Amino acid sequence: MPIVSPTAPVILWLRRELRMHDNPALVAAIASGRPVLPLFILDRETPGRWAPGGASLWWLHHSLVSLGESLEKAGAKLILRRGAAVEVLRHLVHEVGAAEIHAGRAIEPWARKVMDEVVSTSGAKLHLHRTALLYEPDGIRTQSGGAYGVFTPFSRACLARGAPDKPLSAPLSFKGVSAPSDELADWKLLPARPDWAAGLRARWVPGEAGAAQRLKRVVADVVKGYDQTRNFPGQDGTSALSPRLHWGELSPGQIWHAVEGIESKGRTTFVNELLWREFSANLLWHHPDLPEKPLRPEFAAMPWRRDAAGLRAWQRGQTGIPLVDAGMRQLWNTGWMHNRVRMVVASFLIKHLLLPWQDGEAWFWDTLVDADLASNSAQWQWVAGSGADAAPYFRVFNPVLQGWKFDPKGDYVRRWVPELARLPDKALQNPWDASEEELAAAGVRLGETYPRPIVDLAAGRARALEAFAGLNKAA
Ligand SMILES: Cc1cc2nc3c(=O)[nH]c(=O)nc-3n(C[C@H](O)[C@H](O)[C@H](O)COP(=O)(O)OP(=O)(O)OC[C@H]3O[C@@H](n4cnc5c(N)ncnc54)[C@H](O)[C@@H]3O)c2cc1C
Repeated sequence: MPIVSPTAPVILWLRRELRMHDNPALVAAIASGRPVLPLFILDRETPGRWAPGGASLWWLHHSLVSLGESLEKAGAKLILRRGAAVEVLRHLVHEVGAAEIHAGRAIEPWARKVMDEVVSTSGAKLHLHRTALLYEPDGIRTQSGGAYGVFTPFSRACLARGAPDKPLSAPLSFKGVSAPSDELADWKLLPARPDWAAGLRARWVPGEAGAAQRLKRVVADVVKGYDQTRNFPGQDGTSALSPRLHWGELSPGQIWHAVEGIESKGRTTFVNELLWREFSANLLWHHPDLPEKPLRPEFAAMPWRRDAAGLRAWQRGQTGIPLVDAGMRQLWNTGWMHNRVRMVVASFLIKHLLLPWQDGEAWFWDTLVDADLASNSAQWQWVAGSGADAAPYFRVFNPVLQGWKFDPKGDYVRRWVPELARLPDKALQNPWDASEEELAAAGVRLGETYPRPIVDLAAGRARALEAFAGLNKAA
């Protein structure tokens, strides 16, 4: 064992806990009594195909700016390094003579391997802290010690643990230590040619301060009636905290405690959704190939179609099904999509178009600002019917009925599919049923100003049911 000097620094390796408040890794690093070197590594090599997508990188850039400013105020500089995380850490430990590394516990399979390799090769002691979840990813187990495969008993087991610890305060100042750092601008995380991020800039204020501000708003205006409003994509009825949670500008514990005093069904439903996030993390922990392979193995034999033109139409919001197109355009424009519409567009891709769920998962990965390996793969598998506690295969969301029910006045479709805006409510979700007069009065020419449906909904549904039923028979 090399002798470590009493003044040797500790490395605070920040990954998905880009905040000062309620950050157990930061607090523990300071409590070591040694100077702290806060580090972020841009590692595009180790995650392979699960390196962050374009929209995530846009968010990351702004979140790092915000964190860098906060750390600077507290007396430390955020050090940026690029490369394979294990190599960067090994090098940096040696370079600054670090005694210890403090980091958040990661759940992504590649990140777990990095943690193991860091321990075995860097020579510094690695301390892992729970920074991103309410519970340790393997901490909630069945009575026989196994992993939960069904959400309701999982959530009951979580709630039986009681409230999570009260959030930790942000340190006002601490002793930092510096080292050469990359310039954030050189990482080129922001799109330049073309700059497709105007809609993201208009929609979001990334960073810890923006997250705290949004949480305040959510507590004041959203949570109480959340059980009602959460289903209506035309309303500001959900928290929109998902990208902040993904990058850790807020901890789930901060959210839990912020809503604790609100006595309403809305709060119960809202906390339940936070537990779906925990459930997804739990699933990924126990099934590291969740992003690639169906959890139910018989789904590997699914006779998926290959249809590049259909996939492109779906990605671009040009399917001719208004609610699907509205969702896909909201995603492209803002990097986010309402949960109900995520279910509808996913069901449309998997069932009506009979295209592999992995194609949709990959598109979401690149375009969502909240792209999260656990939630994204668990949810795509949930819609496909191949996942844990998944929707049954015969549940095929009808996008027209969903539109009538959850976008009854058409606010959402009119906003994202403006070429249909002048249609009357009764024709908005299904313009192909409108009369010639209605279409003409609204300035809609199907096949010209807006596409005809790329699939007949009834025929697509029947084809999916047949394919899925065949699978079940074969199993
Ligand atoms: C096909 C598909 C893909 C998805 N991909 C992602 C993803 O990559 N990243 C992601 O964070 N969520 C994903 N979700 C879950 C959900 O749609 C989003 O978390 C939610 O829409 C985010 O908006 P919000 O913050 O306003 O959520 P709210 O309704 O306000 O919920 C509060 C928080 O609970 C969590 N949450 C809510 N619903 C779910 C859920 N079904 N599963 C897991 N956590 C949930 C989120 O962290 C969310 O921020 C996906 C859902 C589907 C159907």
